[in-house]
Amino acid sequence: MSRSEELFAQAQHSIPGGVNSPVRAFNGVGGSPIFIERADGAYMYDADGTRYIDYVGSWGPMILGHNHPAIRNATLKAVERGLSFGTPTEIEITMAEKIKAMVPSIEKVRMVNSGTEATMTAIRLARGYTGRDKILKFEGCYHGHADALLVKAGSGALTLGVPNSPGIPEDFAKHTLTVTFNDLDSVRDIFAQFGDQIATIIVEPVAGNMNCIPPAAGFLEGLRSICDDYGSVLIFDEVMTGFRVARGGAQEHYGVTPDLTTLGKVIGGGMPVGAFGGKREIMDFIAPVGPVYQAGTLSGNPVAMAAGLAALTELADPELYRNLTAKVTKLVDGMQQLADTAGIPFTTNRAGSMFGFFFTGASEVTSYQQATQCNMEHFKAFYHSMLRQGVYLAPSAFEAGFMSAAHSDADIDATLAAAEQAFSELKAL
Ligand code: PMP
Repeated sequence: MSRSEELFAQAQHSIPGGVNSPVRAFNGVGGSPIFIERADGAYMYDADGTRYIDYVGSWGPMILGHNHPAIRNATLKAVERGLSFGTPTEIEITMAEKIKAMVPSIEKVRMVNSGTEATMTAIRLARGYTGRDKILKFEGCYHGHADALLVKAGSGALTLGVPNSPGIPEDFAKHTLTVTFNDLDSVRDIFAQFGDQIATIIVEPVAGNMNCIPPAAGFLEGLRSICDDYGSVLIFDEVMTGFRVARGGAQEHYGVTPDLTTLGKVIGGGMPVGAFGGKREIMDFIAPVGPVYQAGTLSGNPVAMAAGLAALTELADPELYRNLTAKVTKLVDGMQQLADTAGIPFTTNRAGSMFGFFFTGASEVTSYQQATQCNMEHFKAFYHSMLRQGVYLAPSAFEAGFMSAAHSDADIDATLAAAEQAFSELKAL
């Protein structure tokens, strides 16, 4: 038994499923999760001392690689000044100004402690601002685990086959309308029926919780104009895409401007941080200026702000995003070539430093339905072969992969060599 297996067995006795977040339990791929002891750059090291090239990056935050010196030093310095004050601090202003400068659609921003808090509050704000109850989301998009948003959600909810969680009263969920990602007609149809009751459309501008599915040409623009026509608030959930798909997020990359944006992951540099922000007129509906309530004992925490600010500051390097995109291209094109040579039905998607691969005969994957119809046996076998060879991918077919600035050409070559072996094992299945 490996040390990870021992720890997982021990964890089951005191932690539900042995994990503090479901998808970590490897339900999507079978087998026992690896317990990580430390991480540095592109690598994570498990409790048995095995090294993995990591394409999960703590589920998104680690765009600069693990244990980045600038983030570590800023965090340690902040720790020396005290962990939390529960008062305003200057670094919160610096952080807000930094976010505004990087994401110009954000005129005012409020810090929270997770992506879930950010989306939950953005929805409340949109409802308070419009005076409407209904919200529109897309099947397979995940926006955290707030009640109204756990309807036809992606990520772990999809991996575990629990699209509608028990514990959510019908009365809460009935205001959540769900339509098809990349299908504007489905949005138009539902607006034709309920348009004057819909407070907001919330969307992952690149879907990253049903594998990785970029928006079809015109999709985000279409959502923008439907929201304009009906007076609904457009929320881009950029918890995953923010500061990742481009420095200014997916809204910069695709040139479409939302009313509100939710942020998480990269914004905390690895600390628990989220944020929501947008048009001044809407943001001023939030307490204490406005009537919509939201609060947080640890929101804007000085240590978390120091880590996040250091991360965002490092992202100023003009070469960074070009390099990330080049590395993703090398990885996914290389994988495609190897799969083709091995005769394994396979296709890939990419958006900035996010990528996804699909075991399917389809030439491209643009929909939730296609993503869920991929060959899961191929995925699981591929996953475990890569893991055995020291490559750590997200343990679910419904998650995006993330490249970091710390991945070297040699890391990508090693990943491709492992993939060649994994594809050849699939042929024997
Ligand atoms: N929105 C999106 C798009 C996400 O990917 C996630 C997390 N994967 C969340 C919201 C929820 O964020 P958190 O896990 O920090 O609550």
